[in-house]
Amino acid sequence: SQVASAQIGVTGLAVMGRNLARNFARHGYTVAIHNRTFAKTQSLVDDHGDEGTFVASESVEDFVASLERPRKIVIMVKAGGPTDAVIDELVPLLEEGDIVVDAGNAHFPDTIRRENALRARGLHFVGSGVSGGEEGALLGPSIMPGGTRESYESLGPILEAISAKVDGVPCCTYVGPDGAGHFVKMVHNGIEYADMQLIAEAYDLLRQGLGASAAEIGQIFADWNTGDLESFLIEITADVLQHVDAATGSAFVDVVLDQAEQKGTGRWTVQNALDLGVPITGIAEATFARALSGGVPQREAARGTLPADTTPWDISDRDAFIEDVRLALYASKVVAYSQGFDQIAAASEQNGWDIDRGAMARIWRGGCIIRARFLNRITEAYERDANLPLLLADEYFTSAVGNGVAAWRRVVAGAALHGVPTPAFSSSLAYYDGVRAERLPAALIQAQRDFFGAHTYRRTDREGTFHTLWSGDR
Ligand code: NAP
Repeated sequence: SQVASAQIGVTGLAVMGRNLARNFARHGYTVAIHNRTFAKTQSLVDDHGDEGTFVASESVEDFVASLERPRKIVIMVKAGGPTDAVIDELVPLLEEGDIVVDAGNAHFPDTIRRENALRARGLHFVGSGVSGGEEGALLGPSIMPGGTRESYESLGPILEAISAKVDGVPCCTYVGPDGAGHFVKMVHNGIEYADMQLIAEAYDLLRQGLGASAAEIGQIFADWNTGDLESFLIEITADVLQHVDAATGSAFVDVVLDQAEQKGTGRWTVQNALDLGVPITGIAEATFARALSGGVPQREAARGTLPADTTPWDISDRDAFIEDVRLALYASKVVAYSQGFDQIAAASEQNGWDIDRGAMARIWRGGCIIRARFLNRITEAYERDANLPLLLADEYFTSAVGNGVAAWRRVVAGAALHGVPTPAFSSSLAYYDGVRAERLPAALIQAQRDFFGAHTYRRTDREGTFHTLWSGDR
């Protein structure tokens, strides 16, 4: 039997769990390791045993017994049923005050359910978002832990130690109770969808507008990465576009099938936004754009069939066009983030999570896929006003986006005239114009609703609820 010597345990040693365990060990923690299939545990010790102190167990009983109390166990298995199976196996072996961390990509309602069940048994359940893929898990991810504040007191320092650091600040902080951590990770992924779609639209505009090669556009992205747009996704886009396919000698992007796939976090984000009634049009359009690309029968039926009625795009000032696209990309990106933070605010309010949005932007600055210079600006905005009702209305963003509005309009108008699909650019501009409008045609919708369904309306000139007797009008 085991001596209880390990400070942290990891069960589930596929790519993510294996790298997280190594990251803990490299930071000097004694790490208990376990996997359903023992061969993975053994291979971790064989391949990386020299990186730190691992305590390998074949049985769950030995694994639990090898941990110091209160035990801290990170579960890193396939989300869904497997996570429940592992929890069910662990729980009877645990004691009051032990901490179970689910670091997989759980859907936040599952996390709320699991946290409730474990709390009833005197255990802490921490649903934690972890972003950064396998490399992040090893070298420093962005970590978004939920659960009780009490659990964070002992768990937090260990998670902060292995997280990414930006300016010496850990990309890990306490997010909020029960499902808050996984919720924030979900919105992070939704924003990632929007970011990627916006970049893809910018690429398409440059390609179709300028007739530029993929490699040339890669160079434009590399230039953009030295300014406000500096981010991991812009950086890798520059690399991807300059990559040549070894088999054909073509630009790599030209040999990739144009049907985007998804694992579902974008869909969850949009579904939740519909429930909350928060317009996250950038994320929604990005999710639908993937669906459109994968709709093969529809695309085959439409290709060469639907009239385009466009004229060739004749751009005389290339540099001005590139700058217009850059400004439109930045403005659309601000809209997507503004919408995502609105969603976090709404869910936080609904669930009593009290999420600090500025802190979320801070822990996304490193380790994760959407890491970017511009996240500092978001943190600063929420530092100026923690209750900011709209990120776009912060003084920095008002002027940053304001400077690019004319360019944004030219790009969206050009795309429409020349038949380049830009759902995320266009919908972001429509949102911008909608949210800043003095008066919206929603007044007409209310009047229609009252006409056909007696749904009532409110007036601009008087308090109260009104219904008009319309029968005489028809
Ligand atoms: P994965 O392929 O999602 O899962 C494989 C692991 O789950 C293996 O350790 C497997 O054990 C275990 N497992 C599956 N069913 C089980 C069951 N019924 N009981 C016990 N163990 C079971 O692994 P991954 O890619 O490393 O991801 C782990 C988690 O991290 C997932 O929730 C994933 O969504 C999340 N995540 C992944 C990434 C990424 O970039 N891959 C990034 C962030 C988050 P066996 O070896 O015995 O089969």
